[in-house]
Amino acid sequence: MTKYDADVVVVGLGALGSMTLWRLASRGIDVVGIEQFDIANDKGSSFGSTRLFRTACFEHPDLGSMALHARDLYRELEDVSATELLTLTGGVMIGPPKSELIVGTRQAAANAGTIVDELSWKELTERFPVHASTDPSYVGIWDPGAGVVRPEASIRSAVHAAKALGAQVLDRTKVTSIHETTDGVEVRTDDGTIRARSVVVAAGPWVSKLLGEPSLVPIRLLMTWFQSRQGDLNTDQLPVFIRHFNDERTFWGHGQLDGMPIKVGAPDDPTNFSVTDPDTIDRRVSDSDIAVARDVVARYLEGIDPNPVRTSVCMITDSVDRHFVLGPREPGSRVILASGDSGHAFKHATAIGEFLAGSALGEAPSSRHAFVSPSRFQTTA
Ligand SMILES: Cc1cc2nc3c(=O)[nH]c(=O)nc-3n(C[C@H](O)[C@H](O)[C@H](O)COP(=O)(O)OP(=O)(O)OC[C@H]3O[C@@H](n4cnc5c(N)ncnc54)[C@H](O)[C@@H]3O)c2cc1C
Repeated sequence: MTKYDADVVVVGLGALGSMTLWRLASRGIDVVGIEQFDIANDKGSSFGSTRLFRTACFEHPDLGSMALHARDLYRELEDVSATELLTLTGGVMIGPPKSELIVGTRQAAANAGTIVDELSWKELTERFPVHASTDPSYVGIWDPGAGVVRPEASIRSAVHAAKALGAQVLDRTKVTSIHETTDGVEVRTDDGTIRARSVVVAAGPWVSKLLGEPSLVPIRLLMTWFQSRQGDLNTDQLPVFIRHFNDERTFWGHGQLDGMPIKVGAPDDPTNFSVTDPDTIDRRVSDSDIAVARDVVARYLEGIDPNPVRTSVCMITDSVDRHFVLGPREPGSRVILASGDSGHAFKHATAIGEFLAGSALGEAPSSRHAFVSPSRFQTTA
């Protein structure tokens, strides 16, 4: 009799966990996924109908190739689930020519070999009148491969596909602790213990509580939706955008899609990005919560009513450098971290799932993934 109940356990079936489960199951691995709530719940980081997808990701020069890999895997998941998950609308990044947003977008595109178009202020404001108030010193970069990915449908599709390939899924089951043994791991739940060769911990904002990782910080923030004053404003008229605000902060959004109103995300201001506890987070929305988003819409987006028609409290998990934290907790560890999403991981989730599947099976990462390795924070004596 084997001493393992499964080869790999995946803890948390949000964006990163569901995709890891699917990629492990695709490789024929005996995998168990555990989720404390329902699949595609509205408690963690992965709900609210849409997430921006970009192929030229200003946050790091190596994210462009990760996004292209993710896009291919989203297309594969669409095929197996017969569900549209990723809709390309194109997207425009708007900012000062020397800003991190513009320079980083250009660099990520060049690294990944993605073609993007440079737009002058005149071209930008003529093409997208909603951005007419853009500072005349700003420019735009058009990423034709940008669009919108659907979080709930993607998670459901991945879990469904994984189950069809033989994965076991335990929903409404909470992992209470994780222990590394000499040759594997023990994952304790409120319903018993599962022994496996390795565990991928994709617990989102709960990771610091579960593993005692204080550097992975849960942040409370708001999703806000608005209406145009002049009838419908869909993603043709207002495609995905990210716009420079100040101090390298940005706000972002897209037009109406799937019957949902215009979505606009406020810049990461301390008044609307606060450290939280995922178990006791205040999900009520106050006037002060929506003040920043309302102000941004009123000042910067032409023709949109600044009073939100819909709001929802959500969370991200920030890492120290705002890059993902993916791979063995320490060199050789069988506990694989899938965390530090820092508010931009959904678009990459399928590719991250494939990467984490490899990590769980002991594959060495390529040098292109060094910037997401947990070991980057370890100091040498
Ligand atoms: C408002 C907002 C806008 C965003 N915009 C974008 C965007 O435009 N583009 C983009 O790419 N990304 C975006 N992101 C980020 C993206 O949504 C996240 O990177 C992604 O959803 C993170 O997924 P996750 O799997 O790490 O966490 P989650 O989706 O929260 O998954 C963690 C799961 O683990 C479960 N869990 C936790 N602890 C336990 C336990 N002990 N036992 C069992 N289960 C457990 C939780 O219930 C949860 O389901 C945005 C995020 C927010 C909040």
